[in-house]
Amino acid sequence: MTDMLSIDDAVTRLASSIQPIKDTETVSTAQASLRVLANDVIAPISLPPFTSSAMDGYAIKTSAHGGIGSSFRVVGTSFAGSPYQADGPTDQVAVRIFTGAVVPDWADAVVLQEDVARQAATITLKETPSPGDNIRLIGHDVKKGELLLGEGTKLGAFEVSWLAACGVASVTVVRQVRVAIFSTGDELQDPGQPLSEGQIYDSNRTALTELLKEKPVEIADLGRLPDDPVAIEEAIAETSDKVDLIVTSGGVSVGDADYLRPVIQKLGELTFWNVALKPGKPIAVGRIENALFLGLPGNPVSTIITYLLFVARAVDALSGVSALEPLTMPAILTNTLRHSRGRREYQRGILSRSGDVLCVRSTGDQSSNRLATLAGANCLIVVPESADSIEKGAVVDVLLLAREAHHVVNNSS
Ligand code: AMP
Ligand code: MG
Repeated sequence: MTDMLSIDDAVTRLASSIQPIKDTETVSTAQASLRVLANDVIAPISLPPFTSSAMDGYAIKTSAHGGIGSSFRVVGTSFAGSPYQADGPTDQVAVRIFTGAVVPDWADAVVLQEDVARQAATITLKETPSPGDNIRLIGHDVKKGELLLGEGTKLGAFEVSWLAACGVASVTVVRQVRVAIFSTGDELQDPGQPLSEGQIYDSNRTALTELLKEKPVEIADLGRLPDDPVAIEEAIAETSDKVDLIVTSGGVSVGDADYLRPVIQKLGELTFWNVALKPGKPIAVGRIENALFLGLPGNPVSTIITYLLFVARAVDALSGVSALEPLTMPAILTNTLRHSRGRREYQRGILSRSGDVLCVRSTGDQSSNRLATLAGANCLIVVPESADSIEKGAVVDVLLLAREAHHVVNNSS
């Protein structure tokens, strides 16, 4: 029997076998979400581009005031987009100013409108302003010529907003990772078709397609393959020079109808197989020429867990995103978890808050065919390799699943 590789060693071996894609393309910032920057982006302007008011009030020169009771003559108005044009300064003047409007260059503070008494064209201070009050200095966020975002940054809504704020209309990004996905199994049928005796619906291609939508990929969905070594070999040989990554599901175990590993060994190299993981132990990792191969086990939960642990990281590494350790957090277990030592298990859980502690419970029978265990889950509970069953009340590590469900969990269990 083959020794099992630890998950950490498997992740390290996978990462060390990946060369980031070097090809780049230029895309508009509006289309750049999910993509990875191929170069540093330098700020083309300072942000804010001018010193502006953070509030509605009056711009003044603080050295001119004598504290509470000092008066200023209001000489004009600065609106957002319509600056006050006249030259200053004359010391005892103020400019009526609104949020986002240009602060006249002789002024160094904005007094809140509620902190003055106004009579006709005169304001009188009710508070003592200090230099810099309610002012956003030019270049406070970033100065022209400074690094805005670094090479290898994965762009999301926050980053593209930041680029847009600096007027960056296009960026150079790594080209999309080309991923081919196949399901394997004689028993599989497509949703929408009637099931014959012994058939089940193929859910893994849907799962992989949906999960990969979070990544900078171009997906080739190559359908279902039968449990036939010749057909599998032909399909993989035909695909391997067109993509960066081939992801399959099913057929990687030790059954008589499991042909993926021998096919990969014949066409290329099998880097490792058999990881001390539950669910997902028989994951097979290899390479055929330039294409990385990830053969995921067929049980639907195993496919999703091995996607999260291996495929997601492989895609990130191919697209040049620097590897980040997943953030785990401690939570109190509210049900006992059955486990036998040997493999690290990722049980599906529901994390909720009770007072000032986080609590977690598993989503019931954790069999790897039960997608029901993921349907309501918002986290994975990490059960260490060395653990036996873990009793209710113990503290466990959980990993948040990136989905919106964790915003709407109610606390009753
Ligand atoms: P395998 O990894 O091929 O031994 O498959 C393990 C289990 O997962 C079997 O019960 C298969 O019927 C099931 N399975 C395999 N592929 C899929 C798929 N694409 N969608 C749903 N279930 C699958
Ligand atoms: Mg199978």
